[in-house]
Amino acid sequence: MFFLQLCTLCVLLEISLPNVWAKPPDKITKAKQQTAGKQESKKTADIAAIKEIKHKLADAKENFKESNVEVVKNTVKELKDSGFGNDEILEKNISFKHHNYEEMTWLLKDYSKKYHKIARLYDIGTSVQNRKLWVMEISNNPGKHEPGEPEFKFVANMHGDEAIGREMLLHIIKYLCKNYGVNRRVTNIVDTTRIHILPSMNPDGYEMEATFGHNRWKSSRTNANGVDLNRNFPDQFFPSTSGPPQPETRAVMRWIKSIPFVLSASLHSGALVANYPYDDNPSGQSVYSATPDDDVFRQLARSYSEAHPTMHLANAPWKCKDIPREHFIDGITNGAKWFTVSGGMQDYNYVHSNCFDVTLELGCQKFPNASELPEYWKENKEALLAFIEQVHTGVHGFVKDEDGGPISGARILVANRRHDVFSARDGDFWRLLVPGSYEITVSARGFEQETKTCTVLSNKAAALNFELKRMRMREPRRLMDDDTWPRARIPDGAGFESEEKRKVERTGNGEIDDDYDDTARRGSFYQGNSERVNDEFPVTRNYPHPK
Ligand SMILES: [Zn+2]
Repeated sequence: MFFLQLCTLCVLLEISLPNVWAKPPDKITKAKQQTAGKQESKKTADIAAIKEIKHKLADAKENFKESNVEVVKNTVKELKDSGFGNDEILEKNISFKHHNYEEMTWLLKDYSKKYHKIARLYDIGTSVQNRKLWVMEISNNPGKHEPGEPEFKFVANMHGDEAIGREMLLHIIKYLCKNYGVNRRVTNIVDTTRIHILPSMNPDGYEMEATFGHNRWKSSRTNANGVDLNRNFPDQFFPSTSGPPQPETRAVMRWIKSIPFVLSASLHSGALVANYPYDDNPSGQSVYSATPDDDVFRQLARSYSEAHPTMHLANAPWKCKDIPREHFIDGITNGAKWFTVSGGMQDYNYVHSNCFDVTLELGCQKFPNASELPEYWKENKEALLAFIEQVHTGVHGFVKDEDGGPISGARILVANRRHDVFSARDGDFWRLLVPGSYEITVSARGFEQETKTCTVLSNKAAALNFELKRMRMREPRRLMDDDTWPRARIPDGAGFESEEKRKVERTGNGEIDDDYDDTARRGSFYQGNSERVNDEFPVTRNYPHPK
């Protein structure tokens, strides 16, 4: 130890003595000048490096914009060649190009002003680098939940390098705004549905991808903290491997809790398929993991793949030489059967809310040339509309008391189907189901439960209302203490109007609390699914995951 200390002292003396005391004054000056010279040249080099980076950035941005300008110039011709009608082409604002954050923000603000009667722009929070997570609401009565009107959402660009979904959603915003009151189908959709569109859940990753391209030191798939947002939601089977929810994830979790969403889709790319829950299972193996609503999810996924001209085909076109071609029967797949993802958003939606969410992979390319966007829009337009219309299937209605007052938080239980949904603030509920006959029981604390039968058809939601009688006897104490009652889980439908509410949610440990214990539900889900577990084979993938 003494020897070590001695050595350390020697080294220190070696460094300090010659510089301060041992050298004559002229040598000290010379040494100082040398040091200053070195510092100066380092500073100059740093400035040059910064200038070079700035220059590269400017070039990249300029190229990005230039390619877009060219696309806009060619849009009319491309649209004509792609078979679009004159009415759409002549719309001077129609343009297919990649929109960076500033351009996207400008477009959304512009449309929310021009079409303020049906469009409202709000944000659900900010990204790591402080970009707003914009949501455009499209509704005939924007700003509030209308009793009996289902809520729908689209999310895209959760992975920063996947740009197609972002542009498709910006385009459907334009399409819905411009065609409301003009096109009967669009008018009907907007009049009967409250649609929320989040074009970019990961704006930081997108900016990195758009500015630097794909081959960089850091993945733009993730957010600015390097976290894959589709692995970052609380998982029903496994603890998180990506740490606590990121700002973007937390924002979406708050959003899901604030609005009584019925149906949604997240738009990705890297493959061509409609992927439905569950995305994982307790074994961690790539085997089929069915939800209790497997038939409903298959119908939802198929509604997209069949409305898409190529997704459902046995030999769909495949543009990517470096990615192995994959085929999915009817263009749909169970998530876990394809490959397991834990911490995914679609499972979180289904397990923690009333919302049925699927993951749509729009093609093997992730950030195609802007000139290819019109083709993507042509392929996805009908499928996007058909998918929104699926929110009007199954059964819906109101749960009220004997005086006609709404009962929120009532449990809607479908016989032989282990997944309950709960009525919203106005007593309104939606339960997506495939065509067939069902026995539906509604229960609420302090009321006698009621059971009714109904027949669900394919093209229209069946209407079914309940009027519950108050219990005449005092409830047993244990029922009153039932902490699994989901009343606190019921979204108030107010959206993101209340900053106070957001502040309250941000306090404490900064996490989203689960309002009720899911353990019992999870157990029963798995029992219901166990028979499906052995019929598939594991899949290994050597290239980047799409979803
Ligand atoms: Zn993705």
